[in-house]
Amino acid sequence: MANSVLLAAARSPRLRSAVTRLPLTRGVVDRFVPGEGLPDALAAVAELNGTGLLVTLDHLGEDTTERRQADATRDAYRALFAALGAHGLATRNDASVKLSALGQAFDEALALDHALAVCAEADRHGMTVTVDMEDHTTVDSTLGILGKLRAEFPRTGVAVQAMLRRTDGDLRDLTGAGSRVRLVKGAYAEPASVAFTAKADVDRAYVRGMRTLMDGAGHPMIATHDARMLDIAQALARHAGRDRDGYEFQMLYGIRATEQRRLAAEGETVRVYVPYGADWYGYFMRRLAERPANLGFFLRSFLSR
Ligand SMILES: Cc1cc2nc3c(=O)[nH]c(=O)nc-3n(C[C@H](O)[C@H](O)[C@H](O)COP(=O)(O)OP(=O)(O)OC[C@H]3O[C@@H](n4cnc5c(N)ncnc54)[C@H](O)[C@@H]3O)c2cc1C
Repeated sequence: MANSVLLAAARSPRLRSAVTRLPLTRGVVDRFVPGEGLPDALAAVAELNGTGLLVTLDHLGEDTTERRQADATRDAYRALFAALGAHGLATRNDASVKLSALGQAFDEALALDHALAVCAEADRHGMTVTVDMEDHTTVDSTLGILGKLRAEFPRTGVAVQAMLRRTDGDLRDLTGAGSRVRLVKGAYAEPASVAFTAKADVDRAYVRGMRTLMDGAGHPMIATHDARMLDIAQALARHAGRDRDGYEFQMLYGIRATEQRRLAAEGETVRVYVPYGADWYGYFMRRLAERPANLGFFLRSFLSR
């Protein structure tokens, strides 16, 4: 219940402007977002890389409705790659991109052009790009754009959401050689007609998805903080005869950081999703929705003021 209210709030422009103007919100947001500026992102990358963790950087933004904003997002990614290159931080790192931030909702061709420009610049610096998956209405368009991106940049990755009923089929199409696929449970409020709504069903679908990816020819990116899923992933990887470069774990910045370091110390490849930028509202609300305790922490920080 709290979860669906928060996910609805994540898309409310009125709440967005109220919450982002509250002075205390910033302190709570810091747990999930290292900062609004490029220097904050670079500092987070340097620190994480220094402890043996790889990163995927997300310039925050979504649901863009204007050309000007879509252009600015493309330019922000270009500036990001240039800065990572200049600081010697590009190697083995990745960038995560939301197509809705590049104009997907109002001009799919523009989103494709901008995504191609982002991939080209990433490639120039030896980096890869992974396309985030947003709500279910965007999946066909996103997979269509992914196909066009991969025609030029085959290492482009994509996120796939276990909670969607269509995902078993999508995954089978995405297990070709070298295909980088990030398996997530799914962070959006979806109707039962298209998604599993019970946690047990989502978890079962997640295990099915991991098995398909591990048995396939691509590069599975297991994006979860769920201890049980992490154990199953390791068992499936061993069973499929994959060595530790043949798959990776991914987790979000600020969530289970000790576990991220433990897995890396054990020899696993671990990549941390690092979001940065001023447009943190939607991302932050989805993190609150995932864990009621986060909402409690957020509310207590106001009450204790
Ligand atoms: C690298 C990465 C990229 C992602 N990209 C996408 C994407 O493109 N599209 C999309 O829809 N979703 C994406 N997600 C979010 C994902 O769909 C889930 O909503 C999120 O990962 C929580 O699910 P979980 O697998 O961790 O399992 P859960 O069962 O939700 O959580 C397992 C445990 O992890 C910890 N945990 C989980 N979430 C939180 C939190 N917010 N705060 C504190 N602790 C927490 C708790 O200990 C919890 O018990 C991404 C997640 C990751 C890790």
